[in-house]
Amino acid sequence: MEKSDIIVVSRDRGEKGNYVKPFIKGLQYTLGNFFKKPITVQYPDQKTCRSERWRGLHKLNVDEKGELKCVACGLCAAVCPSQAITIVAREEIGGTRHPETFEINELRCIFCGFCQEACPKGAISLTKVYEYVDYSREDFVFDISKLRTTGEKWNC
Ligand code: SF4
Ligand code: SF4
Repeated sequence: MEKSDIIVVSRDRGEKGNYVKPFIKGLQYTLGNFFKKPITVQYPDQKTCRSERWRGLHKLNVDEKGELKCVACGLCAAVCPSQAITIVAREEIGGTRHPETFEINELRCIFCGFCQEACPKGAISLTKVYEYVDYSREDFVFDISKLRTTGEKWNC
């Protein structure tokens, strides 16, 4: 390497004692905010509300008799870009249809909301629930019973 290629990098440390001013400025800022109302919350005991457009975990809705509104038409599964929904339909004697099984793999889901938009019965909706941690991948496959109760204890 020629002498002209050497780049000398030096750090200007400034005058001795230059840290006092920034230290006092920082201290002023800290003290100024110390007595203000905190903008943070004590999560998970306290939760902030999500925006109206927030899309969280799914919920299967029921009618006034407590029956699932879903008629197992399969539109939600057909429109789902992630193929996260699996439905097995059951046809009753009168011709009415119900889901025998209805599963959503929440790990595959991209929370686009297409299933909710496609449903002709208002049977599926996306809640504001964003807490979904568990120990195994299988636990993220929500069945009918889990989908019925999603968001029950959620206040926001
Ligand atoms: S939100 Fe989108 S990706 Fe998730 S299940 Fe519904 S359609 Fe599929
Ligand atoms: S949730 Fe709605 S779109 Fe999906 S199968 Fe049931 S009725 Fe059809």
